[in-house]
Amino acid sequence: QEALSSRRIQVLSPRLANQIAAGEVVERPASVIKELLENSLDAGADRIQVELEQGGVKRMLVRDNGQGIAEEDLPLALSRHATSKIVNLDDLEAVRSMGFRGEALASVSSVSRLTLTSRHVDAEQAWQARTSGRDMVPEVSPAAHPVGTSVEVLDLFFNTPARRKFLKTEKTEFNHLEEAFKRIALSQWHCFLSLKHNGRQVHSLKACSTRAEQEKRVADLCSPDLMQQAVFLEMEHLGLRLWGWLGLPTFNRRQADMQYFFVNGRPVRDRVVSHAVKQAYRDVLFHGRHPAYVLYLELDPAGVDVNVHPTKHEVRFRDSRQVHDFLFRTLHRALAEVSPQTHQPQAN
Ligand code: ADP
Ligand code: MG
Repeated sequence: QEALSSRRIQVLSPRLANQIAAGEVVERPASVIKELLENSLDAGADRIQVELEQGGVKRMLVRDNGQGIAEEDLPLALSRHATSKIVNLDDLEAVRSMGFRGEALASVSSVSRLTLTSRHVDAEQAWQARTSGRDMVPEVSPAAHPVGTSVEVLDLFFNTPARRKFLKTEKTEFNHLEEAFKRIALSQWHCFLSLKHNGRQVHSLKACSTRAEQEKRVADLCSPDLMQQAVFLEMEHLGLRLWGWLGLPTFNRRQADMQYFFVNGRPVRDRVVSHAVKQAYRDVLFHGRHPAYVLYLELDPAGVDVNVHPTKHEVRFRDSRQVHDFLFRTLHRALAEVSPQTHQPQAN
């Protein structure tokens, strides 16, 4: 049998290189929606509409009213390692935008039929781009679209059967999509957001400017019961600021399915954070029950590294000890104030 390494070395075609990169970033429809929503927010949109069909596998559309993309930039938007968000290492260190790797659109368009339609604020008209062939050559043509951008993604993984096999049922994929939508909606208060699935309006969220409006949004997205059984907290210490809603121990859950934590506006799943929260609830929750919370941590961007993983769910705190202690103390104190010594499990 011929040894694999005896074959000649060849440069990968752009499509194949993008498909390999897609393996890292694009796990399922929800990962696509996350990337597209982040792009819309980075473009300054305050109105974003999402339409999905068949758990997103058949069709996903994200339409925004952001600044749009100029005609000459459309092909670049679809190519790998092309981004308008950072130019040098200093930018990377202080990155505030949600995207910055410049590979989401290229990756998604290598594993689907993607159409990018956009009208830049300063442009007379809209243009549309899609890529074709193994070289992913961009084709640009005139289109009709108001200022802003629409990205339509059809038939995700149609050309990568191995990936398609890992997709779950429509319902499961939709649940993941809705979760991705919620994480954005719970942090982008200024934004009108709408979500439709198979023609049905699932969420339609008005922009919020007061805490009452925020609480209505949290109730809509999580559960009205959470808002009835939560305390609002706000605490600042040594450059760290924590605020949000802490579910009372009476609102405990069988699963850890209502836990939202944001670091500088980014939804994050982090071991330091989970550990601190868990410890804080330890004395007031029965073993095996999970708390619910929607919390926001804000700190100097230089104190946190977001460039850890392509999907950016993970972060690395420069001083994780300090963050852990601050979280634990703040939450522990808030819980001690509101919970009497007795605690009862609740069925849900
Ligand atoms: P990144 O977001 O990491 O820069 P992407 O592949 O997601 O990489 O997007 C590439 C580029 O396309 C972005 O840097 C941005 O300039 C442009 N772009 C993508 N989506 C939008 C959008 N909705 N509105 C305006 N520009 C966009
Ligand atoms: Mg992006």
